Amino acid sequence: MSTIKNILKKLSENSTESTPQEWQTLLEISDPQEMQSLYDAAYALKLDTVGSNVYFRGIVEMSNICTKDCYYCGIRNSNSNVERYDMSEDEIVREALWAHENQYGSIVLQSGERQDANFTDKITKILKRIKEESNGELGITISLGEQTEEVYRTWFEAGAHRYLLRVETTNPELYGTLHPESHDFQTRINCLDILRKAGYQVGTGVMIGLPGQTTADLAQDVKFFRDKDIDMIGMGPYIVHSETPLAEKAETINDEEQLNMGLKMIAVTRLVLRDVNIAATTALQALNPTGREMGLQAGANIIMPNLTDTSYRKGYQLYEGKPCLDENSTMCRGCLKGRVASIGETIGLDQWGDSPHFIKRNEKHQN
Ligand code: SF4
Repeated sequence: MSTIKNILKKLSENSTESTPQEWQTLLEISDPQEMQSLYDAAYALKLDTVGSNVYFRGIVEMSNICTKDCYYCGIRNSNSNVERYDMSEDEIVREALWAHENQYGSIVLQSGERQDANFTDKITKILKRIKEESNGELGITISLGEQTEEVYRTWFEAGAHRYLLRVETTNPELYGTLHPESHDFQTRINCLDILRKAGYQVGTGVMIGLPGQTTADLAQDVKFFRDKDIDMIGMGPYIVHSETPLAEKAETINDEEQLNMGLKMIAVTRLVLRDVNIAATTALQALNPTGREMGLQAGANIIMPNLTDTSYRKGYQLYEGKPCLDENSTMCRGCLKGRVASIGETIGLDQWGDSPHFIKRNEKHQN
């Protein structure tokens, strides 16, 4: 039996026996047939562990004002070419309730990173209103960066129950090449532990195909997800934004290779972590019109349709070539329904679609 087949068999049967070196071997596959066998194995395991329901997380990009300066990001604080916006409380609540009425089950509130009281208090109010006005029925994920433990707890009590905090890479040296010195790697990692303690379902993720990143780094990222007992993964291929410092290091990046590496990471993560939620992110679609469906077929089970009013969408481009800038929420919903049906899967309408991994861990602690 070939090495690849052996590794896939081992992972499909019992992932605890496989090693990061073996995951790296899978990430280095370049033969199309072997790639397909990797995706098939991940898809089969997905059906066994999380099923064929795809869950929606309608995303509201509330504001592109950010105090940070990540070298890869189009809305970094130093980019003066960006027209900044900050949606009102009413606008945000309205979009969340649209998602509820349209049976999305859950939303994600995301924005640039801010720690000032005006911002954190506004979020608390919004969370309370969404909880109340949706009769507690809408699941709420937030993705609002590094905050104090007190703020995380306040937002949890106000109604958010999942938190996505991407670390972008788990290699501290590589992290240092992507951020100014003031952005401390360990602080970000510590936030994941604080979020877990505060009661959230914890999500993280990395960028895939960064300048200077190796397949060994990516295999270690998967190990990090496993060691930290992460519940949800939101990761995608790195896509260049020309108005960023990282762009000049990224001249040789190839779209097809980025897409393949993104899909291989989804598949390996599914095989190793098994019952977590994994998003097929929009970055996959930026590289291929059917990229998100390919993500679902490689083991992902979550899609994040954009709810942000189209008048704001052009202002929220973390990378260039972001798709669906002109499609309103209704068009987006119709388009995604068709896409999910085209690969024989169904949408878990009106359901939170919590991470089975999180549910099982909680049950274990209660018994
Ligand atoms: S990646 Fe996030 S924190 Fe960093 S500059 Fe962009 S919006 Fe701000």
